[in-house]
Amino acid sequence: MAENFAFLLPVVLTLFGVAFFIVARFGNRAALFWAGGYLCAALGFLAPLLQAVAPVPMVAMTADAAFLSAFLFYSHGLTTHFDAPRHLVLRLGIAATAYGVIAYAVFVAQSLRVELFVSDIACSLLLATALLSSWRRSATWVDRALLGAVVFVMLETTVRTIVFFVMAGSLAMDAFIGSPYAFVMQVTATIGALLLALTALASVALRIVERYRKASEEDPLTGLLNRRGFEQLLGANGHAGKNEAAIVVADIDWFKSINDRFGHAAGDEAIREVADLLRALAWPGVAVARFGGEEFIAYLPNCRLQDAHMLANTVRLALSERDLGRIGIDRSITASFGVAVTAAGDHTIHDAISRADRLLYLAKSNGRNRVVSSPADVPQQAGPKLFVIRDEASGPGRAS
Ligand code: GH3
Ligand code: MG
Ligand code: MG
Repeated sequence: MAENFAFLLPVVLTLFGVAFFIVARFGNRAALFWAGGYLCAALGFLAPLLQAVAPVPMVAMTADAAFLSAFLFYSHGLTTHFDAPRHLVLRLGIAATAYGVIAYAVFVAQSLRVELFVSDIACSLLLATALLSSWRRSATWVDRALLGAVVFVMLETTVRTIVFFVMAGSLAMDAFIGSPYAFVMQVTATIGALLLALTALASVALRIVERYRKASEEDPLTGLLNRRGFEQLLGANGHAGKNEAAIVVADIDWFKSINDRFGHAAGDEAIREVADLLRALAWPGVAVARFGGEEFIAYLPNCRLQDAHMLANTVRLALSERDLGRIGIDRSITASFGVAVTAAGDHTIHDAISRADRLLYLAKSNGRNRVVSSPADVPQQAGPKLFVIRDEASGPGRAS
């Protein structure tokens, strides 16, 4: 049975190493270190095969080098995963010192007992260093499970090595290796290795999925939510039906002419400027999205119409006063805003969005560079004349 374990473990560890390599191809650096760790550990367990061709001290030194490297990799994978301080010099120092003492134990003191003890304690210390630096950074339950597995492996390694150290002092080595203790320890060590591998793999995979999910809900130009992200967020937050929420929609005025006159790249920069102003909207729980080309939407939970109107107007003024010379636009740009709040009879938030859209249209058709939160904000019966009224900052006087 014990031989089966000895044979199976390197195979399983290699498979995990390969799995981590595959996962690393999706752009996860931590997975690369985990892969290195599991492959080194597999080599460590295969080292006894060298006995056929190499003297025992060399086999021991090879195995210890592999295990110390494995734990250096694990600890690096862990700190990389949590983006925690790496303490690389400290960890390399622990590994190098341990290896020096191991060399002394193997070649000079010729004590297998001390060799194994130092090797295991050093591996535990490497994990402990990474654990202390990563401890407060776990966000999900999978991350916490990973840290739990690390604690298990650390404790298991420490207890096992202390028990071994004490027993090997009083027992003949052969007697110890054949004992039930040795078997139990092999089982717990295997469980630890598998637990660590599975939780690390799950954590890394979840990070990757999370990154792709976030990317699919984010607008790459501005970093705001995109339409999908916005709807997802409102869906997830269940848009509080009882409380009033406000919707602000915004559309840059005469944007085509900005593109035409200053170029598409400057147009992109202008979109970013508007996004920055909207992102800075000071309202608890606000969600801002780029809904289309140069159209934006903001969701303001628990916000009354007057407050939303005032906030939109702040953004409008800030935009019209912004100096865009540094992005190659030598005149001011403006935007128009429609503001609406949720109402009792609404089925979904889209009802409020539609009302805000209609008010935005009114803002456009009544001169642009304005906020409209109720039809009363604009002259009733907007006649054709109003379509040519323009604000001095509203761009190249085109009626549209
Ligand atoms: P209005 O005041 O009526 O809104 O006039 P407008 O010129 O802004 O009209 P419209 O909304 O129809 O024009 C949108 C333009 O925005 C058309 C398109 O070329 C441009 N656009 C859309 N997406 C992007 C983008 O990502 N970057 C740039 N630079 N331009 C974009
Ligand atoms: Mg538009
Ligand atoms: Mg526009």
